[in-house]
Amino acid sequence: MNEETPMLFDVPATPAVPVKGEASAYPVHRIFCVGRNYAAHAAEMGFEVDREAPFYFTKPASAIVHTGATIPYPPGTQNYHYEMELVVAIGKPVFKADEKEAASAVYGYAAGLDMTRRDLQLASREKGRPWDLGKSFEKSAIIGEITKAADYGEIGRQRIWLTVNDETKQDSHLKDLIWKVPELISHLSGYYHLIPGDLIYTGTPAGVGPVVAGDVLAGGIDGLAGISLTIGDPE
Ligand code: MN
Repeated sequence: MNEETPMLFDVPATPAVPVKGEASAYPVHRIFCVGRNYAAHAAEMGFEVDREAPFYFTKPASAIVHTGATIPYPPGTQNYHYEMELVVAIGKPVFKADEKEAASAVYGYAAGLDMTRRDLQLASREKGRPWDLGKSFEKSAIIGEITKAADYGEIGRQRIWLTVNDETKQDSHLKDLIWKVPELISHLSGYYHLIPGDLIYTGTPAGVGPVVAGDVLAGGIDGLAGISLTIGDPE
């Protein structure tokens, strides 16, 4: 087999995210997600803050959905939840990076939603099984336009919020992230060769909850492009 070997079927297009001020889009390679990265959210899920080490799950790059979409209520769940999150886009290769090098690897930031089949996630958790059915499914990673890190500045005082049908459900600040962005990238780079195209969903603040068909979600993070999502009927 070589580069000219034909493929048996059409290869799906690479998911990509628009970048503010750029004609080119950011192609997505992998999606890493951080669990329990705000104390108040850890508490609402029945846990105390764990400073020992962050933990992760992943979603396929094909789960990416652009802001503004209507997506069907997913199969197999009775408790479909939103999680509003800061998303970090990696811009250079890093492996076993210290925090300084990790910080320099950030290409930019975006607002995102880690959509979750909560009933399936909790059932897996209780049985000590992987979270894939609850977290890693089609159309579960909503993302807005990326703002380059150089155009954003220090992470901390920015508000992060989400409304459902104009009612505020999540309302916090990025300073409440337990694991800061350079810490996350440094830690994750101890386990993976991170490369441009890798996204990190950094965890959600308190206030997660269910949505149903017809709900309209709108989320924002100060200084970043906002996101919206409409939940459609089940397929
Ligand atoms: Mn999440």
